[in-house]
Amino acid sequence: MTPLSPAELLIYLRSRCAIDEDDGCWLWTGAMHRNGIPSLRLHGVDCCGRNARAAAYFWSGGVRIAGRVFARPPCDERCIRPEHQRYVTRREAMALAQAAGRLSAGRRHAAAVIAVRRRGRTIDDERVAAMRERYAQTSNAALVAREFGVHPSYAHRICTYRARAEGNVFAGLAG
Ligand SMILES: [Zn+2]
Repeated sequence: MTPLSPAELLIYLRSRCAIDEDDGCWLWTGAMHRNGIPSLRLHGVDCCGRNARAAAYFWSGGVRIAGRVFARPPCDERCIRPEHQRYVTRREAMALAQAAGRLSAGRRHAAAVIAVRRRGRTIDDERVAAMRERYAQTSNAALVAREFGVHPSYAHRICTYRARAEGNVFAGLAG
């Protein structure tokens, strides 16, 4: 038997979808993985990790990019139409899922850490100085983190001048 070409596989995939006439979505009618990814298994065919979204995307000529993943498409989690996919970095996928309120506890924690790191960049100089003053009194970066609502590792880096050291003559000497 001649193996099917990507174009033929794509036609097969589309045949397993309900086509939404309004927005053009290809809504997968097959099984879904527990995490909401359309599940694809074909005997003797590499199904891109049993991911129908990925399969449709790559079989239609989409190019693989290291480190990218398929986020839930904005239209419908069952949609596998290649043009509707969001093939993004893990961080972008996490941000998208977080924005939609869809993250596991572990992922939520990781996303919160990233958000806090981002927020950390907006801590103004006075606050940085106040954090260092408090640290000088307590030698307890975890306490400073709690009091100032900053992620512990970032607070520690600020307190020890590993972060926000610009303009400080003692930068790099402490800690
Ligand atoms: Zn769609």
